Amino acid sequence: MTSTFLGMPATAPRGVGHLRGDQPFPAAARRSLADPQLRRNLRHATTTIRAKSAAVIAEAPDWQQLRDAGAAIKADVMSRLPELLEQLEAAVTRAGGTVHWAADAVEANRIVTELVAGTGSDRVIKVKSMATQEIGLNEALEAAGITPVETDLAELIVQLGDDRPSHILVPAIHRNRAEIREIFLRAMPGVDPALTDDPAALAAAARRYLRQTFLHTPVAISGANFAVAETGTLAVVESEGNGRMCLTLPDTLITVMGIEKVVPTWRDLEVFLQLLPRASTGERMNPYTSMWTGVTPGDGPQQVHLVLLDNGRSAVLADEVGRQVLHCIRCSACLNVCPVYERTGGHAYGSVYPGPIGAVLSPQLTGVADNASLPYASSLCGACFDACPVMINIPELLVHLRAEHVTDRRRPTAESIAMAAAAYTMDHPALYAAAQRAARLGKVVGRRGRGLPPPLSGWTVSRDLPQPPPQTFREWWAEL
Ligand code: SF4
Repeated sequence: MTSTFLGMPATAPRGVGHLRGDQPFPAAARRSLADPQLRRNLRHATTTIRAKSAAVIAEAPDWQQLRDAGAAIKADVMSRLPELLEQLEAAVTRAGGTVHWAADAVEANRIVTELVAGTGSDRVIKVKSMATQEIGLNEALEAAGITPVETDLAELIVQLGDDRPSHILVPAIHRNRAEIREIFLRAMPGVDPALTDDPAALAAAARRYLRQTFLHTPVAISGANFAVAETGTLAVVESEGNGRMCLTLPDTLITVMGIEKVVPTWRDLEVFLQLLPRASTGERMNPYTSMWTGVTPGDGPQQVHLVLLDNGRSAVLADEVGRQVLHCIRCSACLNVCPVYERTGGHAYGSVYPGPIGAVLSPQLTGVADNASLPYASSLCGACFDACPVMINIPELLVHLRAEHVTDRRRPTAESIAMAAAAYTMDHPALYAAAQRAARLGKVVGRRGRGLPPPLSGWTVSRDLPQPPPQTFREWWAEL
């Protein structure tokens, strides 16, 4: 069903999906920082991926030209997104697929649940997909009596551990192999009780369990890394081959894709298929790149559906500065170089999108008020901008969103109240002179070194309160 909305595009609705955390970033980060095992796991994983990625990027003499091309293609896509999406819809339909338009998470969950229920299956296999995590599809399926089984190894670890993903590419980055063994022993059906924490043994246990599931489940749900408008081709890149199994074995394949993932031509893929593996996993090419165009009679899924998801993206597109976040190809390079992410991990960001990209994507999808602490979850060091293969200026976006937050008059903050009070005081000379005298008095009565009182105390937690001079300019002038 196609829905048409007039007026300003809506942000992602509340109460569904995983774009909002339970607590603001500083409180959640404090909890993560107190976990030394988590910090060790993160440091080891991000350092390893960073080094691998840097080595293969150094081998590519045209890396900067590829980045320029990737950024230019994405800017072109955003400038004519409606036209490209209609072209994609026509091409997928021509090839025997069915396209569904979902304005938000609620609509997307309803569409997918009805499609699965229509097949009569009470179980689906899933390829790792950020879009389905964003909308909370697993919860919606479970509520309808349908069991979703994640088939990506890291996603499976997260699902069996009743946990949340903490990295875009390596969702179980916060777990070490001893913890994974414990999860498998506790929650994986039919696991050998003598299982060790040897990585090969853990992978073999997951493979045994998943193979049976692949062979006996008639419906699969995937995301898509790219969709080619000119041919209606969808593409998924992955490292384990589980995606290939999901995309070819079942009778019905349902793909949920954010509307920003479309590219104009097949040729544009060549740029992204070079950028993505080097920036993400530090490989020269993806181990498995699966592409499919509608239905091929007698070969692969015979029912192919594409759900085009908005869920706040049109609202992001309406912001001339903010829309560059839609260029993201989810490589996770910005996470791996971020000093804040490396210390706090992904859960502190609350949203399914962690790290620098999460700090600018989630507040835009939900509206800044609902994720107000995230644009401040950065030192603005710029490492994310340097690492991004499509050159998204994340520091610029962070500052843009901070400005939007503090100027949001509907929700005054301590900072905006303080600034308004300062502006009023400076506008009234007598009041300003009195404030200067009061500041000196504050120094005399011993506030030196103790910071500001609440509610402004947060400002001086990590800053020294400037000391007022012994004599003001006005007093000095009057003495002349
Ligand atoms: S913002 Fe750039 S570096 Fe970060 S995940 Fe997206 S494409 Fe990768």
